[in-house]
Amino acid sequence: MAVNLTHSMQDYLKTIFMLTADHTRVPTTRIAQTLNVQPASVTSMIKKLADCHLVDHQSYHGVALTESGRTAALEMIRHHRLLETYLSTALGYDWADVHEEADRLEHYISEEFEDRIASMLGNPLYDPHGDPIPGRDGVLPPTPWPCLLDVPAPATVTIRRVDSSQRDALVFLSSKGITIGTTCTVLKTASSYIMIDVSSTHKTVRLPNAIVQRLFVDQI
Ligand SMILES: [Zn+2]
Repeated sequence: MAVNLTHSMQDYLKTIFMLTADHTRVPTTRIAQTLNVQPASVTSMIKKLADCHLVDHQSYHGVALTESGRTAALEMIRHHRLLETYLSTALGYDWADVHEEADRLEHYISEEFEDRIASMLGNPLYDPHGDPIPGRDGVLPPTPWPCLLDVPAPATVTIRRVDSSQRDALVFLSSKGITIGTTCTVLKTASSYIMIDVSSTHKTVRLPNAIVQRLFVDQI
């Protein structure tokens, strides 16, 4: 990496990457909301990042990552998701607890440590939430799974990915025996919820749309 990035710069790059996943530009107000900081702090950080050629900022048109900004963001995401996988696989952490821990650790691990974790885990492609782990080359494995909201009943599905941004949702899902790889049968789709049968527990669960929209599945 050409410049030495502070933890805060790394967090901004990661956030901008997530917010511009569809390759649009993101307004600085959106970044401020997401990071829960004052717009003025965002403005000064964006200026710093632009001076390092990590972002491109055009007044009234928002912010985009440059090629080197994108590389740095992907590197941080690789650290984060490998750490989450390590915490869950090797240390037995619940999928609801890995994010916060990985958020702290991701800034500290070396490339050597990253490589060792990756090979110890067998170079995983997805983290415990089904999020793709960028390769060393920055390539993200595919995530072709439709949202469970868009799957009409009756259907049998396997959970492949969950939006992990709300811890409560993860805790709720694990309490119902639902995690990555769980197979469920969609019994009924109503306007604000769905009824599913979880095959591992043989229990019928009512999932509100707020949860359903966070789940991405493979249809069997
Ligand atoms: Zn994750």
